[in-house]
Amino acid sequence: MFESNYTLTVFLVLFVAVLCIFIQRFFKKYLESDQYYYLKDITLVAAWALCGIWAPDRPLKITIAAGVAAACVGFCQKVTRGRNLRFVYFIVGLGFSLFGPRIAFIEFAQGEYYYLSYFASIAISTLWIGVFPIFFQEIDEIPGMCGLLLTVSWTLVSIVIMLSSQNLREAVQLCIIGMVLILVFWSRHIHAYRRLTEPLTALWGTLFAGLSIFGVSKGVAFYTLAVLPLGLFTLPLIETSISVVSAAFSPKPTGNLILYRKLLSKGMDHAASVHTVVMICAFIGCIAAFLQIETTSFLVLVTVAISVSIVTWVFFRYASQSARNQFRKPELWGIRVDNISLNYAITQVQHWINKGSGHFMIVTPDALAALRSRTDSRYRKIIKNAGLVLPDGAGLIAALKLLRTPIQERIPGVEFTEHICKRASYEGWGIWFLGGAPGVAEAAAQKLAEKYPGLNVAGTRNGYFTDKDTDDICREIRESQASILFVGLGVPKQEYWLEENLARSGATVGMGIGGTMDVISGKLTRAPRIWQKLCLEWLYRTIQEPWRWRRILKLPLFAFYVLLTILHIDNFNQDESYEDINLN
Ligand code: UDP
Repeated sequence: MFESNYTLTVFLVLFVAVLCIFIQRFFKKYLESDQYYYLKDITLVAAWALCGIWAPDRPLKITIAAGVAAACVGFCQKVTRGRNLRFVYFIVGLGFSLFGPRIAFIEFAQGEYYYLSYFASIAISTLWIGVFPIFFQEIDEIPGMCGLLLTVSWTLVSIVIMLSSQNLREAVQLCIIGMVLILVFWSRHIHAYRRLTEPLTALWGTLFAGLSIFGVSKGVAFYTLAVLPLGLFTLPLIETSISVVSAAFSPKPTGNLILYRKLLSKGMDHAASVHTVVMICAFIGCIAAFLQIETTSFLVLVTVAISVSIVTWVFFRYASQSARNQFRKPELWGIRVDNISLNYAITQVQHWINKGSGHFMIVTPDALAALRSRTDSRYRKIIKNAGLVLPDGAGLIAALKLLRTPIQERIPGVEFTEHICKRASYEGWGIWFLGGAPGVAEAAAQKLAEKYPGLNVAGTRNGYFTDKDTDDICREIRESQASILFVGLGVPKQEYWLEENLARSGATVGMGIGGTMDVISGKLTRAPRIWQKLCLEWLYRTIQEPWRWRRILKLPLFAFYVLLTILHIDNFNQDESYEDINLN
């Protein structure tokens, strides 16, 4: 279908683009934001599949098929959270190299060729294709980073390919399709706070690797199309290598994306740090591009410079707009909830710790906590002044949805605690666990330390102490120099305790975690995923701890007040004025 000329390619791709835009516009008003983003991802993969079906060239078909297959693996990764399916990318890579183009020889700068044996050629191509989705997923740990790097690198590689004198018809078609689809799904790729997530990292990683193999298979020097991606990703590649080596040999692993975290530690905010890392990558990529094109013609220089500038300008525009949207906080009875992703919340914690001054509380209210805030002004005030308010509990999230201010991602306290400990294990932050029955905090800390080697457990203590002990506890925490204090005394006791003692304890971040330590230690089991999906976590917990039934009786009251709020006939009047929470 594409063979006659590029005009036809452009026409068909534009048709797919219009179709995608129509689908997005049409469904936007009917779907919740998480469903809408799922739809976008599926539409994007389908658009690629459509282009693959229409492509007449077998290598192009196989490359796109590999990308779509990898995206399907990504969807599986997403739904089976925690299961390691990354090895499947190498199986996709093997399929690609058996049936599609592959790296058969390497041409060096002096014009010398090194021919690979059949098996070596399959092995190298499989590795090349399999590694990129995994690598993209590593970069995607930082919200916004992968989408932006992809946009910059796809643009640069496309420019190099289009300006190359070689016969790269299929590669040019792939470039055009990619550029158009990045533009059509703009908000998915260029957003300083949004991750691409597993399906899209897999899709683009595979396509990106496939694109470079195209060039090599067509006889373009290996350094032209294989070295260019390496040039663009030099920085993250080096950082990932350091992180892997340090995880293997050092008791205190460095963790990934070192420069980004260094910038945060210097006080730069998330968006600016992402932008700086991307600019450095783009700069190294530009140098690689100039070297590969083997020309320093004025036209090339101007084209590349303009492209990079446009991408950067667009990023800044959208980053600032998304930042504004980010701080739109859904509200219920005066409680403003932070509408942010788990990754961004962790980034925020890192920012506070690196800043080194101030004490910040994280609260994770559920429906009953929201209900309490109506009558308990002290508790309400604590939530209003907290550094982060993360909604935990299906009831509260459902209420926010009904009020037409849905949150983008649920951040359960257990998951947040585990992710903080994971980050702490390579940042070296000291963690203190306070609360639970005797032995529970120790058991939870031990489980976490086993799971995240290098975790610095600064101290533990059970939650059954008297007021007289509080001074000693604060002194112990201060002396341990812990950065994060997890307190599990139940609502509202833990929030009251943190309000009075967080500054005295010297910890930068204090978080009330309720019964999280009971779950992590294994004393209680967390509701299976299906119960969570059906919003029945509370029932599962009550079956394990029947004394909780009294609390459940309050849920209808919560629902009743939510209904009054929806109907605008709730006469609740919050007495205090709201002091804006400054996330930075
Ligand atoms: N707890 C405690 N000291 C107390 C009261 C409670 O350490 O004086 C612990 C209790 O052992 C449990 C947690 O606090 O581990 C309360 O968890 P729950 O799930 O009830 O918290 P909530 O549902 O209020 O968030």
